[in-house]
Amino acid sequence: AAAVAMAERVVADLREKCETPPSLLREVASEMAREMGAGLEKEGGSRVKMLLSYVDKLPTGREEGLFYGLDLGGTNFRVLRVQLGGNEKHVVNRESREVSIPPHLMSGSSSELFGFIATELAEFVADDKCTAISNGKKRELGFTFSFPVKQRSVASGTLVKWTKAFSIDDAVGEDVVAELQTAMEKQGLDMHVAALINDAVGTLAGARYYDQDVVAGVIFGTGTNAAYVEKANAIPKWEGELPHSGDMVINMEWGNFCSSHLPITEYDEELDKESLNPGEQASICIYEKLMSGMYLGEIVRRVLLKMSAHSSVFGNIDHTKLKTHFLLRTPHISAMHHDETPDLKIVAEKLEENLEITGTSLEARKLVVEICDIVARRAARLAAAGLAGILMKLGRDCSVEKQRSVIAIDGGLFEHYTKFRECLEITLGELLGDEAGKSVAVKHADDGSGIGAALIAASQSQYS
Ligand code: ADP
Ligand code: MG
Repeated sequence: AAAVAMAERVVADLREKCETPPSLLREVASEMAREMGAGLEKEGGSRVKMLLSYVDKLPTGREEGLFYGLDLGGTNFRVLRVQLGGNEKHVVNRESREVSIPPHLMSGSSSELFGFIATELAEFVADDKCTAISNGKKRELGFTFSFPVKQRSVASGTLVKWTKAFSIDDAVGEDVVAELQTAMEKQGLDMHVAALINDAVGTLAGARYYDQDVVAGVIFGTGTNAAYVEKANAIPKWEGELPHSGDMVINMEWGNFCSSHLPITEYDEELDKESLNPGEQASICIYEKLMSGMYLGEIVRRVLLKMSAHSSVFGNIDHTKLKTHFLLRTPHISAMHHDETPDLKIVAEKLEENLEITGTSLEARKLVVEICDIVARRAARLAAAGLAGILMKLGRDCSVEKQRSVIAIDGGLFEHYTKFRECLEITLGELLGDEAGKSVAVKHADDGSGIGAALIAASQSQYS
């Protein structure tokens, strides 16, 4: 009993430190809105970078013709082709192919990687049954590239740094569109890259195509990010000519958001410290580390380790696995959190399979579920506060008129972690209140990022 009492104390302490009462969430939302304004004011004005995407026209649903999309963001890339039917007909035909990237290409040379992509793309194009492209027109492609790039126009961008499993030194500082374009020419592929975007912008565009009330696209996957539509004349830092449409899509890069109101625990601080590349201040992404798929499992692992080290709640176990960073993944904590078996059989299985914690008591397993719940709820509630912040910035957080606002969300965490998703939706409703809540909808935009690229290529088409 003493063992459990100690463990319970660790959990109670975590619960208290992770509390996110509505008053705190409102502070976080206001601060997000303020940071957005500061980031738009001047370059470097905020940790939230508020990058111009140069996408000034979003799809209307009236686009017509054949367009291609290429999505590179993780271990796979996807090529797809859509035939757009114009007014009301939307996507008449769509085909896609997913290709996994051979690991050696992720750390090779730029020309090898883009050469591989262009070869696959050429093969995909070769079995075009449709001949809608003619009279000297080039095929048009939208490129979703979910790594940090610096853009000066919609169809170019230099790579700032690789993330995830990629590290191809000679590509850093280069224009990724030019690299792709060169590789395509080598393949004799007559294709024009009409737009370079990231997955958040793609999600926004993909959803906007079907619903003109969509105001933002948000990703909750391995990482997290958001993009939204801003009035071009509300961007003081912009020096160029204002676009015809009067709109500009902003890529927020909100993972870097930081606020003194964020409920941070010792586990988060340690995680952050250990993940820091020394000297690279900019990589302290506190907001992202509290709520994206890459980190939730890791936070839970750290709590379990502390609990086990300070009590004998798991018995006398070997801590080697439990001490291994990132061994417990977010899908594992999701599975444990959703365990509905009376004796928490799935929790027992996951602990055993992943951490070699065997013979756990039901009491111990209940504590594990509670830890998952605390960590995931904090994530979902802070995520909701971020969304409320965007709505606040847009003046859509209170219902002045009968104006509908839709936020399109994609990403594995939102899609598969049901309790995260439910908690996010409920919390957003709480923050907005009954009246405004009715005019705001959250929508899962399935595969926004792939199709979004093709749709932006269509709306930015040089032939339209
Ligand atoms: P990416 O963000 O790399 O483009 P996804 O949007 O597909 O990829 O998200 C993948 C992430 O989603 C994983 O890193 C993981 O954290 C999370 N995820 C995937 N499956 C689940 C699951 N069943 N439960 C909870 N989280 C999941
Ligand atoms: Mg993705």
